[in-house]
Amino acid sequence: MSSNQGPRPTSRCAVLSSRIEVLAAEARGCTVCAPVLPLGPRPILRVSDTARLLIISQAPGTLVHASGTPWTDASGDRLRGWLGLEPARFYDVSRVAILPMGLCYPGRLPRGGDCPPRPECAPLWQARLRAAMPAIRLTLLVGSYAQAYHLGPGRLEDRVRNFERFLPDYFPLPHPSWRTLGWAARRPWFEAETLPALRETIATLLEDH
Ligand code: SF4
Repeated sequence: MSSNQGPRPTSRCAVLSSRIEVLAAEARGCTVCAPVLPLGPRPILRVSDTARLLIISQAPGTLVHASGTPWTDASGDRLRGWLGLEPARFYDVSRVAILPMGLCYPGRLPRGGDCPPRPECAPLWQARLRAAMPAIRLTLLVGSYAQAYHLGPGRLEDRVRNFERFLPDYFPLPHPSWRTLGWAARRPWFEAETLPALRETIATLLEDH
């Protein structure tokens, strides 16, 4: 294009792409919690303005902190099994966005287990990044922290069992950690009713996309 033709008009799509990319870069550079993070800041997220499915969970563990990619652990294998998504589809950021409540590994509790997501994180990043993803149709709220923040007070089991109440915007789920194996074994409705409905919802959502 010659200079006397003036600037090329910016498409709406290009503006949105730039907005999410700028925000994601800003989030990846965040150091707000640096003084209290045992392994230092390493914000881990995957976002795009074309993703239809958003997965909001807790915070990265040490394996994910090391890999830099969300859900690269046994919990991730279990979650992909629940969703009926192969890794290639799960990690296709044009379809699936992943935004934990805490973007950095928060450390260990003295009595064992990981600390909760850093409380500074969700107010800083959740709403801003979500607002820059206009194609999201369904948000999986994985675990009690994501559910409390986005749905308010309530019991995780009641929400998971009555997931239809939250559709089409949200699908509440337990966190797919090893502890959930025992939880699910005592609640046969989870495998018999919730997971088939979840897989069907995800397949329909990502069909032809
Ligand atoms: S946990 Fe969130 S707020 Fe804290 S440093 Fe990481 S990205 Fe920033």
